[in-house]
Amino acid sequence: MPTLVMKFGGTSVATLDRIRRAAKRVGREVANGYDVIVIVSAMAGKTNELVGWVEETSKFFDAREYDAVVSSGEQVTAGLMALTLQEMDVPARSWAGWQVPLKTDAAHAAARIEEIGTDNINAKFAEGMRVAVVAGFQGISPEGRITTLGRGGSDTTAVAFAAAFGAERCDIYTDVDGVYTTDPRITAKARKLDRIAFEEMLELASLGAKVLQTRSVELAMRYKVKLRVLSSFEDNDDSAGTLVCDEEDIMESNVVAGVAYSRDEAKMTLLSVADRPGIAAAIFGPLADAGVNVDMIVQNISEDGRTDMTFSLPVAQIPRAEQAMAATKERGEVNYADLVTDDDVAKISVVGIGMRSHAGVAAQMFKALRDEGINIKVITTSEIKISVLIDRKYMELAVQTLHDAFELEKA
Ligand code: ADP
Ligand code: ASP
Ligand code: MG
Repeated sequence: MPTLVMKFGGTSVATLDRIRRAAKRVGREVANGYDVIVIVSAMAGKTNELVGWVEETSKFFDAREYDAVVSSGEQVTAGLMALTLQEMDVPARSWAGWQVPLKTDAAHAAARIEEIGTDNINAKFAEGMRVAVVAGFQGISPEGRITTLGRGGSDTTAVAFAAAFGAERCDIYTDVDGVYTTDPRITAKARKLDRIAFEEMLELASLGAKVLQTRSVELAMRYKVKLRVLSSFEDNDDSAGTLVCDEEDIMESNVVAGVAYSRDEAKMTLLSVADRPGIAAAIFGPLADAGVNVDMIVQNISEDGRTDMTFSLPVAQIPRAEQAMAATKERGEVNYADLVTDDDVAKISVVGIGMRSHAGVAAQMFKALRDEGINIKVITTSEIKISVLIDRKYMELAVQTLHDAFELEKA
């Protein structure tokens, strides 16, 4: 029988009633003749609560125990979903990640999937089970410990299952009816896209659009999974939602496909470091070793052999970065005069494959921000995106301004 993967996010399984609603959708696909693999998230808010408990218990926590705790939310929903399906006379059972097994590396709290065993689930399908309900977001490490895939990781579980089982499609059911030109919570003018190219979705996700986890898009692109995002609250037909697809499968598109934002950014500047070969390696090596995800980097003009080095990082990683920089100073490797941290910035990005062949997008972006009096602190660009760092208080305004400037409400 053909296989379908259906993933339900936190808000789609937030209550028993919503689980019932989701189960009905699954039941319909079973009636349509599919064997279904359902991937579930924890009930809305559950993972945040579990993370909070871990952080309250232990400041520098053991990531293996963090995973043991935060993976539990998905296990509850998987069991409840299987029970609900059974009540509807749909043969179903639940699977924790380790039971599948979904094997990962040992990078706890941010593990990468290495392999999905298909034998156990396929054997049950062969016996007449019609739905395998799998707890998303989790797997098992080579040491046999429970791992999790990073926040939003159930999307990646879903795509990985679709690839492993050769599913006809991977449907991501969520609380919006597709991928929009920007987060519809920020502007009512956001427009739903019928299709978006993998490359654009990948950039938008990695720049903050949390509708899909970045890694899930990467996997879908690599394994050619037909990936669709749609609402679990509305009735959907075959053309509902947004299809994430190859660039070639999109007839006409805007130069800019969308605007993304990332709220919790920080900026650090090392003042007056020696401008000599090896200085960047001496700074960013220890930051990488400390697990700091440096994003934008600017080295300022040099005067008297000294320069300022600025970089951006997630707010949560400030303590680790400060610690790493203090240590390099102590070792005499980077003798900066001062370290200045700005923990009040946000990153705004415009993304579109049309930028490859269109000049002037950056200028248009900077002009639009200037007209609103929004100061740009750091800029980075790549072939299909431009990102700027600005004061966080202007974040919503900047998103709305850019959405208007590039006329994204129009198809
Ligand atoms: P789930 O719990 O179903 O995984 P998420 O909260 O992780 O749902 O992702 C859905 C949310 O992503 C939406 O509610 C929306 O606020 C946000 N979002 C951000 N950018 C976009 C975008 N470009 N298109 C659609 N949704 C977006
Ligand atoms: N429950 C996890 C989280 O909130 C995984 C997911 O929902 O995708 O990050
Ligand atoms: Mg999500």
